Amino acid sequence: MKLMKLMKNENPLIKLALQIGDDWEVNEILTTNGSLEVWLAPTSKRQWFGKKYHSCHNCEHKIQFSPLDKSLRWQHISLGSMAVYLNVKTAFKLSCPSCDMSHNLLTWADANSKITHPLQQQLEDAIPCMRTTKDIGKVIGVDPEVVKNVLKSLKAKSVLKNPFAENGECWHKLLKGEIEIKPTSHPLKLLLKMSKIQYKKAKTEEDKDKSVKRLQDYFIKFKKRSNNELQQIISQC
Ligand SMILES: [Zn+2]
Repeated sequence: MKLMKLMKNENPLIKLALQIGDDWEVNEILTTNGSLEVWLAPTSKRQWFGKKYHSCHNCEHKIQFSPLDKSLRWQHISLGSMAVYLNVKTAFKLSCPSCDMSHNLLTWADANSKITHPLQQQLEDAIPCMRTTKDIGKVIGVDPEVVKNVLKSLKAKSVLKNPFAENGECWHKLLKGEIEIKPTSHPLKLLLKMSKIQYKKAKTEEDKDKSVKRLQDYFIKFKKRSNNELQQIISQC
């Protein structure tokens, strides 16, 4: 393991490469076999009797930093072929003793996650383009287990956006003509046209729901064939 001493003027460059914003500064970097261990701390404005402090946004009280019981570590976006890990040993959730305002300085990760938000985003972008978690892991440089967890969180999110949810407002919008899609298959074109007419004629909410359900049934039955149109609907919801 090798410790890299940072020159003062190198800090902004490394911060830029890591994309962690101005609220954090790099204290030290260790290089191990093919990976970088970066130690970060919240940016302190100046020394106060030799101690670093955070200035309260609300009352400008000087809140002193304290160490965490246990340091935290997240995997971050790789730099070239180097895996990057961000480590923090300073408490980032501060409570102002003067005005009680709470400050959470950690904006680039969740405390209980193993990866940073930028890496999470990179994985979310890569997942639809690749076939296996192993492939994604290799390309992005993370453990397949990490990819699996991101996949799980993505699935949980898409449940919320389930187009077949009971009150799928977007289906009603589609039949009202507030959302437009371009069906490529002739049967779907016909069905959509008919459903719109029925929806317009419907006198009760129940009848409207029936038209929606009939259309949804088609999408469920011909899932593969109508996936493109389904994506068009979801993207407008
Ligand atoms: Zn305060």
